Amino acid sequence: MRQFVIIMLTATLVLGWGKTGHRVIGKIAEENLTPEAREQITQLMGHADLARISNWADEIKSDPKWDHSHDWHYCTILEGKEYEGPEAGGYAVKKVSEFTDLLKRGILGKKDQIDVFRFIVHIVGDLHQPLHVGNGTDRGGNSVKVEWFWDGESNLHRVWDTQMIDHMQYSYTEYAQQIQLGLSSEDKEAMLNPDLMAFVNTSRSLHPQIYEIGEGKLSWEYVDKNRDLMEDRLLKGGFHLAAILNDIFQ
Ligand SMILES: [Zn+2]
Repeated sequence: MRQFVIIMLTATLVLGWGKTGHRVIGKIAEENLTPEAREQITQLMGHADLARISNWADEIKSDPKWDHSHDWHYCTILEGKEYEGPEAGGYAVKKVSEFTDLLKRGILGKKDQIDVFRFIVHIVGDLHQPLHVGNGTDRGGNSVKVEWFWDGESNLHRVWDTQMIDHMQYSYTEYAQQIQLGLSSEDKEAMLNPDLMAFVNTSRSLHPQIYEIGEGKLSWEYVDKNRDLMEDRLLKGGFHLAAILNDIFQ
């Protein structure tokens, strides 16, 4: 029983954006692939539906075969420090770089290529959830207990993974469309940046606002204050993912 509880705690630690968040990012990325990338991804996967595969890396967590991947979904930047590598906690940055490199070199068999590809699509999304770039003290906000509207007990990580997104009651396709409304082609071009560390550092820099939770009773005021920020992370997640894939599949 004790072991079961520990496993459950570990599992909640690393979930990342919920299903809708990952699908929104996948959908936005798919809409911004170059024709070359779309073509090569379709050859690899049989389709280029990134929303459909974006949650695979979370779904396999129940398979013991993938236990070693549980800490690939986050990284840590200690307070007042720069990113110092996976020693501080979490392999997300390392894995995205490693997998990007493997795909570029084209040395993997098809099955491994598919797995590595699905991990990139997922982890790049996770790294845009600001609490997946943790501070090393509270398990990415999982230890920060809060109350969420009338649902009662929650934690800050879960609020950012799922509860704020679900609160909007959009499907992922509606959300992907809403978030991109009114963007010019210059706006899109400016966001197509494959620089992994730049968006990891941005995620971390957003913590002061995210941790402004007063006494921890979160409801419409918190949503009102953070909605734009949350949607901006989903938007940038989509464009950064597209940029990384466009760079791999030239
Ligand atoms: Zn994840």
